[in-house]
Formats: sequence, structure tokens, C-alpha cells
Amino acid sequence: MLELYMLASGSSGNAVYVATENTKILIDAGLSGKRLAKALAEIGTDAAALDALLLSHDHLDHIYGAGVLAKRYHLPVYATQPTWNAAGKRLGGLPADLRRFFAAGEKLVFAGLEVETFPVPHDAAGPVGFIFRQGGRAAALVTDLGYVTPYIMDCLQNLDGIVIEANHDEEMLFNGRYPWPLKRRIGGKTGHLSNVMAAECLTQVISPKTKQVVLAHLSAENNLPSLALDTTCSRLEAAGIATGKQLTVRVAARHEPSCRILFT
Ligand SMILES: [Zn+2]
Ligand SMILES: [Zn+2]
Repeated sequence: MLELYMLASGSSGNAVYVATENTKILIDAGLSGKRLAKALAEIGTDAAALDALLLSHDHLDHIYGAGVLAKRYHLPVYATQPTWNAAGKRLGGLPADLRRFFAAGEKLVFAGLEVETFPVPHDAAGPVGFIFRQGGRAAALVTDLGYVTPYIMDCLQNLDGIVIEANHDEEMLFNGRYPWPLKRRIGGKTGHLSNVMAAECLTQVISPKTKQVVLAHLSAENNLPSLALDTTCSRLEAAGIATGKQLTVRVAARHEPSCRILFT
């Protein structure tokens, strides 16, 4: 069994619950410790039952509650050395026995759940994406990246499930009220994936094995769930990939648990 559950998604906070029969981990903790515990309770689990917290990168929408959660539940926190360095004070109070390190590209194993990590181009220190593998099933979690590198494209091949960022609609970003430097940052090579970029990537990596796609980390300002979904589905269909019963495409909710993926 491999389960992924989006607890919250977007610049107001990110967290993803990943579980198998034997382990429960959390990827990112970008909400307050209290809200994370509440979200976990809503999906029928308990923060005290978590085995580990993994951090994708040091931005606040991914680490906001990490320190509080880790200390309260004595949870080991895994992050790259650059993430630890950059997260500074926010995670500074964590006792040494809860600090774990991995290198981007390293594979971690939690009671049989394999977690592959890979570097992503994003304006943070040592940011990573993840592939989870258990019992022949595999799913990816990749958000906060400016573009899909050839290496990431390879990592995403032949998966059962893909959670990918669809941050913004390019026109909404361009015409929106953000100042130009911020627009350039978001749309740049180390910013965030647009709907079109996510959709183009999906047309290259979806195989007959792929059953679930979740669009994540949508901008509140420069995107709409319906637009992300329409852009993706129409591009997939133009590429001859039918969506519907065989392949579900959903959009992760911003503030509450959504888009459970369960492979049995
Ligand atoms: Zn983010
Ligand atoms: Zn980020």
C-alpha cells in the first residue's frame, strides 16, 4: 500500500502525508504545528504516529511549523545540508538527535518505503523533489521548480502517481498586479512551473501505468483551479492521452486535506 494525502498546498503552506502499512512520514511542514496536527486528525491519523519529517527546501511555506512539530512529537527531521544552513533560526532550536541529513540524489528508506530525492531548479538552498516507492507502486512529488530538467523528466517516467506543481497561468502572471521583479522571479528558471509547463511535462511522462495526477502549489493570485485543470486536460488530450476513469487529474486544495492517492 502506498498513500499520499495533500494536507495543504500553495504559498500559504505545504504539507503532504505519505504512508504505507509500516510507516508514516510527512513531507514539508509549512503550516503551524497546531494546523498540521489538525489536518492530520482530519484524515484520521495522529501527528504522534509520524516516523519522520522530510523537508524539500527552506522556504517558509514548507518549513513554517517544522520546528514546533518536530520538538512536540520528537520527530526526526531530514533535510539537505544547504537547507539546514538556510533554515537557520527557524529550525535552530532542534536538538542534534532530531537532525538528519541527506544529499540531493540520495535514497532514503523508512521501513521499506523508498524515498528517492532529486535536485530541482528553484531559488532556495539545495531544493529537492521526491519519488516514493513501495510494493511495485511509485509516485512523485515535485513542486517549487522553475522548469523541468531532463533529469527530472527521467525521474518521472513510468510512475503510478504524479503530484506536480501548476503554479500560475502565464497570462495571469504577466498581466497581474505583481511587481515586475517578482513576475520575473516566479516565471524564471528558478521560480515556479506554469500550467503549460506542467502540462507539457505530463505529456512526456504519463504512461499507461499512470493513474493519478495532482496539480499542486497553485498561486492564489495568478491561477484558478479550473484553469490549471483545463489547460492540463486539453494538452493531454491533444497529445492523445485520455483523462477520466483511467487517468484522474485533480487540483490540490489550498487550506484543507485533499486529493488522497491510494495504491493498494
Ligand atoms: Zn513553495
Ligand atoms: Zn519555494
